[in-house]
Amino acid sequence: MTRYMDGWMLPALDESNRDFFTRAKIVVRECAACGTIQHPPEDLCHACGGYEFGGREVAGVGTVYSHTVVEHPVHPDLSAHVPYTVVLVSLDELPDVRIVGNLLETATDDVRVGLPVRAVWEEIPDAETEETIRLPQWVPA
Ligand SMILES: [Zn+2]
Repeated sequence: MTRYMDGWMLPALDESNRDFFTRAKIVVRECAACGTIQHPPEDLCHACGGYEFGGREVAGVGTVYSHTVVEHPVHPDLSAHVPYTVVLVSLDELPDVRIVGNLLETATDDVRVGLPVRAVWEEIPDAETEETIRLPQWVPA
């Protein structure tokens, strides 16, 4: 997959987000104390204040919950890619968990709420940490 933005800032990996950004799986955090699923990853459970989490892998399939079409390139490296569609995806297994990403392989006029999608991963080597960042993107299912 072609990378959109060479030189663009990558997520800083830490214990709370490493699974999500490196495994090429949709991995959300599940509170060890109360079982609440929390995404995006944070250090503190919003439901019970717990600090311990496990990773829960879920299928990378869902439906478009919301979307917007970006027509103005906010960075010069995006000039060749506009217009593009950013989607918020509601996961089939966890409908209250929503994952943001770009919708690929789809004309901007063809996106709609409820469109079934599946995750694909954009792989980016992180020279600083020597890890590979894997960003979820979406394509029609
Ligand atoms: Zn909790």
